[in-house]
Amino acid sequence: MAHNFSFFELCNHAASAVEVAIKDLVETQQAYETLYIGADGTDTKLIDDVAEKAIFEVLEEDGRSMKVLSEETGIKTLGEDPEFTVVIDPLDGTYNASFGIAFYSVSIAIGYPDLSCIWFGYIKNLANGDIYHAEYGKGAYLNGIRIFPSSKSELKDSCASVYGYRLHVERTIELTRSIRRMRILGCVSLELCYVASGRFDAFVDVRGSLRLTDVAAGKLIVDESGGKVTNGFADLIELKDNSIYHVYMIASNGYIHDDLLKLTGGIS
Ligand code: MN
Ligand code: MN
Ligand code: MN
Repeated sequence: MAHNFSFFELCNHAASAVEVAIKDLVETQQAYETLYIGADGTDTKLIDDVAEKAIFEVLEEDGRSMKVLSEETGIKTLGEDPEFTVVIDPLDGTYNASFGIAFYSVSIAIGYPDLSCIWFGYIKNLANGDIYHAEYGKGAYLNGIRIFPSSKSELKDSCASVYGYRLHVERTIELTRSIRRMRILGCVSLELCYVASGRFDAFVDVRGSLRLTDVAAGKLIVDESGGKVTNGFADLIELKDNSIYHVYMIASNGYIHDDLLKLTGGIS
């Protein structure tokens, strides 16, 4: 963990590179053209590909040996003897960026080569420049200022994003009846940051389609803010070292966590 300052710099460079690379593509028709099926099994749009290439350029220039797990490419090892693993969602909120909805990000998490511990998380909101980051054991920050979750303890006062539409509606019906304000913004990494900073009281995703690349940085940021992250059955989430494993996640300020689990059927 000796390189933490330089990891922050590395992430800043990577995020700036993405920002510059996608600038002219945001809110254009070409942005959303499908190029191929990415390593995670979903479509890679032109804007995703451009974002990922920009990040790889920065990581290769860094010169250190590292393992990279990125949404579109999957696993790639740079150099001979990886010192750490970088988990990347080069562009989270692809639809938002492509259609001019101002809520999309770069998400980067860094940890041990086997990902037994993720010790650095970085998420930049590319639409407004906000930077969230966290270091294991050292708290979570928005633009350098320490952040904390909300202290609301009642669902009837709470504001949350609840992903459970289409195939999973029945698992969220009770919850949607109880929550005061629903906001589904289409960029999971930033929505987790919103829980960490108290803007949202919770984030619930019962679709079971989240990937490591979406949540690795955000989970650390929520944990370090003092919030709580579990799967839908109250268990701690183990992030597996691949881009295909899917996660079911509930993140909250902690106070409303049990109510969220009960209403989504996880605990009785
Ligand atoms: Mn994808
Ligand atoms: Mn994503
Ligand atoms: Mn993405």
